[in-house]
Amino acid sequence: MKFIFALLILNLIQTARAHEVLQSFLVDSKNQNLTQISQHFEIKQKKNKFYEVYVLKEKVDEFLKLAPHAKLLSEDINSELRNKNLDGYHKYHEVKSLYQKFVKDYPSIVSLEKYGESRKGNELFSLKISDNVTKSENEPKLLITSATHGDELITVEVQIRLVKELLEKAQTDTRIQNMISNYELYFIPVVNPDGFLRRNRYAGRTDPNRDYAWPERPNKQTKSLCIQNLISFFDKHQFVGSLDIHASGKMVMFPWAYTRESIQASDFNFMDQLTQKMASHNQYKHGPISKVIYVAKGSSADYYYWKYKTVAIAVELTTSKAPRSTRIAGVVDESREMLWTFIESF
Ligand SMILES: [Zn+2]
Repeated sequence: MKFIFALLILNLIQTARAHEVLQSFLVDSKNQNLTQISQHFEIKQKKNKFYEVYVLKEKVDEFLKLAPHAKLLSEDINSELRNKNLDGYHKYHEVKSLYQKFVKDYPSIVSLEKYGESRKGNELFSLKISDNVTKSENEPKLLITSATHGDELITVEVQIRLVKELLEKAQTDTRIQNMISNYELYFIPVVNPDGFLRRNRYAGRTDPNRDYAWPERPNKQTKSLCIQNLISFFDKHQFVGSLDIHASGKMVMFPWAYTRESIQASDFNFMDQLTQKMASHNQYKHGPISKVIYVAKGSSADYYYWKYKTVAIAVELTTSKAPRSTRIAGVVDESREMLWTFIESF
């Protein structure tokens, strides 16, 4: 009996550990400690005169010292997500077999590349779409990534459906034909599979989008294995453009995130015009990350722009991380022209 009881307790502890508990708070935009808050916690978005901030439950005391008047918005931002009926959303193994099927069905324009494993041993992979897919041609190489945050399920569905569209219309639609012949397109459906599998936002306790080095801290060590591997993959391919898809907030943004200063003028003009154009179809907010949301250090956009001069764009789709499945098609419609515009601008 004692043994069974001990097993039960052990099981409970393991379950508690499996899910990170993230709370969300509203902090007044006049709070004097915002800079410090942004260094230790994730500022998600601006809401009128407040910022929405995500805080791991075990760090709430630390957070409340910086923001004693913060208003609790949610006790556990993802409890609903874990209990929700998510029919219509692909599970990780389904995403994997679907991308394998794309290779089988369209072997002349699709290939798959494994670029490592996550901490928990899940395969990290990328799909390439281009004519002469087995060759590396002198064409702009672009990378489109989803589910850096494992709880942003809609980002995976939007990518899957737009990839499918590219493939299904490869022979019939002139615009899509041109994209496939003139570019080398790489799609990573799930950057952070350990998080995605558990509907957790982070990779362990690490926010993957604060896990990069940045100009002020060039020697920062990247902790999460999925990001370490993504960095090596990026380094190998030297992408000229990258689009990191997140949710939610309806925003399309570019560096810098770590400072309010602007990037080099010609790059600024290019990315400012590009994001404006990308947002012209869906009326998303656009501009530098530090201005549209808040200063954030360690983000992917900053790193890839800083290291490779990549046109590194970050998108926050729609108004929910996992809208009802009947709404997925609408979010795809909202995103399509934005993605095509991004690709065609190189
Ligand atoms: Zn995100």
